[in-house]
Amino acid sequence: MPTRPIVIVGAGQAGLQVAESLRSEGWEGDIILLGDEPHAPYHRPPLSKAYLLGEATAEQLTMRGPEALARKNISLRTGICVDHIDRSGRELHFSHGSSLPYHRLVLATGARARTLPGADLAGVFGLRGFDDCRQIGAALETAENVTVIGGGFIGLEFAAVARKKGKTVTVLEAGERLMARAVSPFISEWYAQLHARHGVDIVLRAELSAFAGENGRIATVNRKNGPKLKSDLVVLGVGVIANDQLAAAAGLPVDRGVIVDACGRTTDPAIFAAGDCTATCLADGSLRRLESVQNAVEQGKAVAAAILGKEKPFVATPWFWSDQYDAKLQMVGTSAGHDQMVIRGNPDDGKFSVFYFREGRLIGIDSVNRPQDHMAGRKLLDRGLSPTPEQAADEAFLLNGLLA
Ligand code: FAD
Ligand code: NAP
Repeated sequence: MPTRPIVIVGAGQAGLQVAESLRSEGWEGDIILLGDEPHAPYHRPPLSKAYLLGEATAEQLTMRGPEALARKNISLRTGICVDHIDRSGRELHFSHGSSLPYHRLVLATGARARTLPGADLAGVFGLRGFDDCRQIGAALETAENVTVIGGGFIGLEFAAVARKKGKTVTVLEAGERLMARAVSPFISEWYAQLHARHGVDIVLRAELSAFAGENGRIATVNRKNGPKLKSDLVVLGVGVIANDQLAAAAGLPVDRGVIVDACGRTTDPAIFAAGDCTATCLADGSLRRLESVQNAVEQGKAVAAAILGKEKPFVATPWFWSDQYDAKLQMVGTSAGHDQMVIRGNPDDGKFSVFYFREGRLIGIDSVNRPQDHMAGRKLLDRGLSPTPEQAADEAFLLNGLLA
């Protein structure tokens, strides 16, 4: 047993998964989980959904507290920031000056919210962590005019929360349609109409010119191609930047993320990476960036196995979800590159799935309030199975029957 510990930098979804999987896979040596936030690992998804609505408490956000981790002999150290890696000495150096040797190092440093010029005015927030969310929640109590920048997942989930709280809400999206990175134009349009029905003003192709303040506080959001928007709360949901700086400074290959293989290995045999901070090199040489709970969990498992000399690559089909009002959107696979799409269920009653096909084979499904289609789709895609478009559109046809 090596005397040095396995050290994991980043106490989020991926870091916790690596630590717990190392234990369940039989690693008996020391494990140290380091995080720069003051909190034990917590769930981020409710931050833009249930927590802001008061439907989940701070305690319910916690994934594993220090005591639960101690019972697994995992040492959690919070409020500590790793400054740089000395690869030749296999040591980490902290911003406060001390250092820590490692046997194996895992980078699970996540991503940070992208920001925009002028966003330092009071009343303008990014939404990444619990502390951001607490501040936004307090500001939301008194705000009247809420402007959301970005019509992606964060922006739209937050817009739904703010409308439910009775605020006047405008979403400014730079692109041609909503959630364009994740869903097809059909789903983008369905969600634009959903938000419009709830009274959200969705502005596409919006071009921001400035955040204008009075006495250091946001007053208006100014556009190049539209009137000024009176705003007392602005939330930015304009994407994330991978936290790959530690890896880059240590000379590891990065490209909008720490480059890893399907098992989370970097080019240094003692260093691994998992979660939002990574970019995975696929078999065809292209890089894939995923920013999701599933990716953090599955890469975390793959890394723990790889450290222990086992090969358990993350190969499952990617899936995501988003909750807006009473519509649960679940996505599996991709709609990109489809040449045929069919609808199962009825978009007008808010329960339907869109199946995407390329050359007759299923490549992805977006479901709204149809979890049974999503679950069947995950299994079908993982096993390389496909219904015909006619079967997919026929509600009487049992998708699970193909799995038998
Ligand atoms: P993180 O959870 O970001 O954890 C990384 C940790 O490392 C952070 O605590 C960070 O502060 C710390 N760290 C960084 N650098 C250092 C350093 N140098 N030293 C020490 N610590 C460091 N995904 C879904 O699939 N479905 C959803 O519905 C969904 N909703 C979301 C809602 C919100 C508001 C947000 C912000 C994200 C949401 N996501 C969702 C995305 C999902 O939460 C992330 O993909 C997931 O948390 C990634 O896990 P991670 O461990 O890689 O990164
Ligand atoms: P996102 O999904 O990348 O969406 C950002 C959106 O903002 C994009 O549509 C982008 O348009 C737009 N945008 C960028 N710059 C803009 C500008 N200056 N003005 C107006 N619009 C602008 O990112 P996000 O919604 O911020 O989410 C952040 C992270 O949290 C991501 O990792 C996301 O996956 C994760 N998250 C996931 C979920 C979920 O899975 N349900 C929920 C919440 C958050 P372009 O694409 O044209 O640049």
